Parts: sequence; structure tokens; C-alpha cells
Amino acid sequence: MNGGIDFNKPYITGKEANYIADVIATHKLAGNGKYTKFCQQAFQDFYGFQKCLLTTSCTDALEMAALLLDIRPGDEVIIPSYSFVSTANAFLLRGATIVFADSMKEEPNLDCSGLEQLITPKTKVIVPVHYAGVACDMDAIMDLSYKYNIYVVEDAAQAIDSYYIGRDGERKPLGSIGHLAAFSFHETKNIISGEGGMLVVNDLNFAQKAEIIWEKGTNRSAFFRGEIDRYGWEEIGSSYMPSELIAAFLKAQLEHLVEIQNGRIELWRQYFDLLKERNVHYSLPFIPNYATNNAHMFYLICENSEARDSFIKKLSALKITATSHFRSLHRSRYFENKYNGFPLVNADRFTDCLIRLPLYYELQGLDISSICKVITN
Ligand SMILES: *Cc1c(COP(=O)(O)O)cnc(C)c1O
Repeated sequence: MNGGIDFNKPYITGKEANYIADVIATHKLAGNGKYTKFCQQAFQDFYGFQKCLLTTSCTDALEMAALLLDIRPGDEVIIPSYSFVSTANAFLLRGATIVFADSMKEEPNLDCSGLEQLITPKTKVIVPVHYAGVACDMDAIMDLSYKYNIYVVEDAAQAIDSYYIGRDGERKPLGSIGHLAAFSFHETKNIISGEGGMLVVNDLNFAQKAEIIWEKGTNRSAFFRGEIDRYGWEEIGSSYMPSELIAAFLKAQLEHLVEIQNGRIELWRQYFDLLKERNVHYSLPFIPNYATNNAHMFYLICENSEARDSFIKKLSALKITATSHFRSLHRSRYFENKYNGFPLVNADRFTDCLIRLPLYYELQGLDISSICKVITN
């Protein structure tokens, strides 16, 4: 570890450049070609997602969801305050009112026990964010969705290859449960394409409109399938489709998904085993019985912000990068003057006390030992 330990290192699996060279050689550079179709079909076959559309980012997939659900000014959208800005921005761009929910005490995911009291006749969508790839309590959320006729959009940015074990005992892939879901293939996620994402449409009533929004508001996809003789403007839409160069990169990653996941889970376990002795200065990640672990992230919850910042400093002195994560959105500079809801104490505690440790496929067991020594000393 002489050279230090990076926080993240994007893993290149091997065939990325070959597939990109193939795209260049065939001169089919724009979107919705063979690589895009391969990836979409592979996700559908592997996870049973109803319909997948690759996008240029998870942010774009969330924006597509807001367009698909026809979000308008006055509509209320419930999201956890402890999330990334895109979860809120996607709906704010359509004029929605954001209602921030708190996290649970034990872990950063939505506290479903406080959710029902946030619902009003104007509530249109709930956006559960599966933090660290750990499932939210989807049965509780879907019950509210049916009871109050509210859409559910899963922010599954971090949640590829992770599952929710339902009340019925069934293992459901995250991203397959809500009406819509959004994934990210940003270079910090488990499988990557630099920037990139995917919209999953589970409620097939939205399938056709999703394709139109994806294609700048036109029915060009149906035209390319030979279903119509000319295409035109059908809806408002935008440019959410990635180029084949991106999809080619992603195909190479997909072919190594199992190996990447096994490797990450092994590293996560090493952290957990080395840190699990009781320690007053931090607590370990909590994974409820209804959730699996896709090893997107290894984090600790420190006793307070001073303890967290002092871990970051101690590690940094040894050139090891560890970082805090989200900052409660309701207390951001953009939102704090607009916020008039309840205090969200758990979201604030994760803002102040959560530390993320390096975790990536090529991280070495020895690196993990050195990091854990600094933490436990
Ligand atoms: C990474 C992330 C996003 C954004 O993904 P992009 O592909 O970078 O747009 C959104 N939500 C959450 C929870 C994320 O972790």
C-alpha cells in the first residue's frame, strides 16, 4: 500500500475495447443498435424486468420516469432526504413538490413507519432509494401504493443484482417491484459504462410511451421495427438514449457480472469480519432479513461527526481515501429555505456520521487489513 489506496477504481473486464472497435468498424454509432438491444434483452432475461431501456445516466432514467408519470406542478413526490440530488431534481424539473422522508434509525433506507403520515390527496409517487444496494421494505411501500393509488419508482442506482425477499418468501430483484425503476452504470457503481443508466418499465401500460419519450418524443423505435411507415412527433420527450459505444462497453461488463459480484461480496465480508468485534466508536452496516447484499458499498456509522472526520483524517494521512456520503437534501443550500416539514434526525445523523471505505473489484485483501488496522487502533 506504498502508493496509497484509492477510494474507487473502475474495473475494466477485458473486452470493452474490442466491442467498441466493432461498433466503429460497423459504422453503427448512434443508439438502439445491436449492443443496446443485447444489453436490454440480457437484463430482461436475467432479472425478469418487463422492459428495459438503456439511458445516458440514472438521472435521465429518473427524468424519464417523471415524464412518463405526467408529473405536474402541485403533485407531491415522497423521497428520502438521505439521497442523491437526482432523485429530487428529476421531479422538481416537472414542477413537483418534494416531500422529504426520514431514514430508519438502523440504516439509511426510508423509514416506512413514518411514510403514511406524509401521504396527502396530492401524493403521486413514492421513490424508495435502495441505499448501498440494500432493499427498502418494498411490501410496506407497495401496500401504501395500492391503498392510496400512488406510483412507485425505485431509485435502484446502487442496487444491481440485489434482491428483496417478500412476505410471500419470494426473492424479487430490486428494480422489478415498483411501476418503474432507474439504475446507474456510472463508474462508481458495480457494473459500469463511464456514464450510463437504465429505465426499467414493469407496468407495461407505460411501455410504448417510454420508448417515445426515449426517442425525443417520436415513434421512431416502432418505425425501425417496421410497424409504421413514417415516424413523427407523438409526445414531449428528450434525448435519453446512449450511443452504441456506451452499450458496447456495458456488454463487456455484463459478461463479467457474476465474477464482479462474487469478488465484491468477498471483499465486503473481509471488512465485516475484521471490524465486527464490538467497538464503541462505530457500528456496522445493518442488512434486514428481507434484503440481500450486493456489496455496492462498505460503510460504518461513527458515534459522531468528530469521530467520522477523525477516521477520514487518519486514513488520509496514510494516503487511504475514505469519504462521507450524502448530505440531507432538505438541509442543502438549495432546499433549506423551502423546507417546512418535520426534522429528519436519522437522515442528519447519516449525513454527519457515515463513512464509506474503499471497495472495488481490484482491491486487495491486504489493503483491507491495513484499512481495518487504522480503524480499530
Ligand atoms: C449514483 C446515483 C444516482 C445518479 O446516477 P447517475 O447515473 O450518475 O445519473 C442517483 N441516485 C442514487 C441513489 C445514486 O447513488
